[in-house]
This record gives sequence, structure tokens and C-alpha cells, in this order.
Amino acid sequence: MQHIIDRFLKYVKIDTQSDPKSKTTPSTEKQWHLADLLVEELLEIGMEEVSIDNNAYITATLPSNLNIEVPTIGFISHFDTSPDFTATNVNPQIIEDYDGKDIVLNAHENIVLSPDYFEDLLQYKGQTLITTDGTTLLGADDKAGITEIVTAMEYLINHPEIKHGKIRVGFTPDEEIGRGAHHFDVEKFDADWAYTMDGSQIGELEFENFNAASAKVIIKGKSVHPGYAKNKMVNAISIASEFLEILPPEETPQNTEGREGFFHVHHIQGSIEHAEFELIVRDHDKDHFEKRKQLLRNITDKLNSIHGNCITLELKDQYFNMREKVEPVYHIVEIAKEAMEAMRVTPIIKPIRGGTDGSQLSYMGLPCPNIFAGGHNFHGKYEYIPVESMIKATEVIIKICELVAKKAV
Ligand SMILES: [Zn+2]
Repeated sequence: MQHIIDRFLKYVKIDTQSDPKSKTTPSTEKQWHLADLLVEELLEIGMEEVSIDNNAYITATLPSNLNIEVPTIGFISHFDTSPDFTATNVNPQIIEDYDGKDIVLNAHENIVLSPDYFEDLLQYKGQTLITTDGTTLLGADDKAGITEIVTAMEYLINHPEIKHGKIRVGFTPDEEIGRGAHHFDVEKFDADWAYTMDGSQIGELEFENFNAASAKVIIKGKSVHPGYAKNKMVNAISIASEFLEILPPEETPQNTEGREGFFHVHHIQGSIEHAEFELIVRDHDKDHFEKRKQLLRNITDKLNSIHGNCITLELKDQYFNMREKVEPVYHIVEIAKEAMEAMRVTPIIKPIRGGTDGSQLSYMGLPCPNIFAGGHNFHGKYEYIPVESMIKATEVIIKICELVAKKAV
């Protein structure tokens, strides 16, 4: 247990926060610090074909120890952390034999991780938790995933009696700013399929995510003296509000869950002359997704015909539901499920209300379901991870490698 803790602590103490405003890859220079260390470590444990490219994408190979044809599978994680919260001076706290009570993260600032609010904590009574000191995020998202993959590869190298095919490992920068897959060389990675180790609580197994689009609505008005405006003024603000009122009020993030889609207006600004707002469109179902986009077009057309072509709609697809790409190869989900059950982990299969690198990779030709890495409360100071969940995730990786080989015999 200490070994996996040490490895994890080493990674989280290195600040790798990404930055959506940056145009470079990786988006921040500091991501190289961990990237370089990971390369060293992969070499140290005995991985082959260890390589890092100009964008800090790391790949490595564990060669097959069988002389039969076995599918090549991959495991992928990201080493950046969220821009939402600082990752400078991460100072992890280790709580052994958790007693189910409040955890004081920071007495000075009265920051408490409490099961009254985060009831998931209670399922980890008796386990070893790693938390923050209340001033940073932890970075279990997704350094837990990296820890688990490296530890699993090390285990397989040290236990050649466990038979497996060729295993590929990929670590990426900038997942948290939606670019983790952008420079991923799927062809060079050359795996039949892969798993991102980037889910949350123990048991999570995901192969469905949103279809996603973003929209910007720009309205051009005409400012005229309000006292003499009759039939002349075009108030961009009123038209913006007219537009927004047509959107179904119950289909918003705060009113939906499960497989329900939504429109989410997240930014608006305006004057009489010019107004604009931005929204995102989300839906698991492809048809519903298309209908949502069509609704935006219809509203635009309708208001344009009333107010005289003052609205421009910019609609952009962002990513799609990986289900479409994973379903035809559903056995890759079944293998993960079987591996979890073999390690006495109950699979929790549910649609992601967001996207993953795996969804983009799936559309780039690498089907890529997502498996739990074990952490909770990502992207903030209440982030924590039970060490036992990290160990289970490591075991699941090893088991998947074993099962893929067994099924090929
Ligand atoms: Zn993540």
C-alpha cells in the first residue's frame, strides 16, 4: 500500500494546472515537470518504446509475453489538473482507518470535509483516505489514473507468470481544457481499443457521454432616441430576451439529470446596438441533439423574419456520444465489467453528463470507455481519494490485461 501512496504523492505534489487561455501544447510549461518524470519512471520500471513528443504526449509499450495473436489494448490518463482551482503547493493529508466523522482539512480556515455534506465518505469507513489541506485541489483527477496504470504495468513486468498481449500506455496534457485528445496520435498508438482511467468513485464504468455543441447568438440592434423610436428602434436586448424565452425553461442543467438533455446559457452581454449570448447544447440522444440545434436555427429564423435579419447564429459541434462507437465493440465494456466483478468491485454503469477524452478518441478510431480512478469531489479543495480504490483500479487494469489474453487463446 505504501508503494502506491508514495507514487501518488510524488505526482500530486508537482503543479500541472492547465490554462484554457494558452495557445500552446501543453498549455502550461509546468506540465513538462511531471511529464519528464513520468518518462523516467516508465523507463525505470522497464517499459519499452517509451516516447514523449513535442506536445508532451507520452506513450510506452509493455510487450506481449505470449506467442499467440492477442488484441493490443491501451490505458490512458491525463496529467494536467483543472484550471478551476489552484494546484500550487499541494500538501496531501493521509487519514488512516477513517472513522466516518468530520475531517478537518484546515483548522485555521475552518475547512471541513464532512460526511453530512459529502455522504459518499461513509462508504470508506475503515479505509485510508488522502485529502488536501484545504488550500488546493488534490489532483487525483487524474494523477490517480496515472498512478494506477504505472503500478499495474510494474506489477505485470514483475509477474511474468501473468500472461498478456501487447499493452500500450498513453499520458496526455490538457484534458481539463478539452484538448487532451487533440494531438493524440491514434495511428501511432496502434491499439485495438483503450480505456481512460479517469472516472470517479470505485466501480464507475462509462461508455456513454453527451453529444455536445456550443452556440453563440449575436444580435445587431438600432439605437434611436427613445422619445422618437416608434417603428425605428431595434433593441438588441429585447430580442435576446425574446430568444431566451422561447427556450424550454425546464430543460436546463439545474432541472435535468440522467439521460435528460439541456440548453445552458452561460454568458450574456448587451446594449441596444449589440447583444450576444453563449450557450451549450447537450443531449445523449443523437436525434434529440439534432432537434435541439434545429430549435436554435428555427428561433433564429423566426425572429429574423419578425425583426429583419438582425440575428446571427454560430453553432459548433464539440464532441459526440461515444456510445455510437463503443456499442459495435461492446465486448470491450464487458471485459472491463468482468474484470471488476472478478476483483469484487460492483460495476456502476451510467451515462456521463459531460465528455471525456475517450469520447473524442472513440471518434478518432480508438474506442475508449472510461473506468474509475477512485477520487471524489474533483476540481476543488474537498477532493479526496481512498487508497483502497486506487489499489482496486490497479487490480482491474491487471485483470483486464489478463482477460483479453485469455479470451484470445
Ligand atoms: Zn480527469
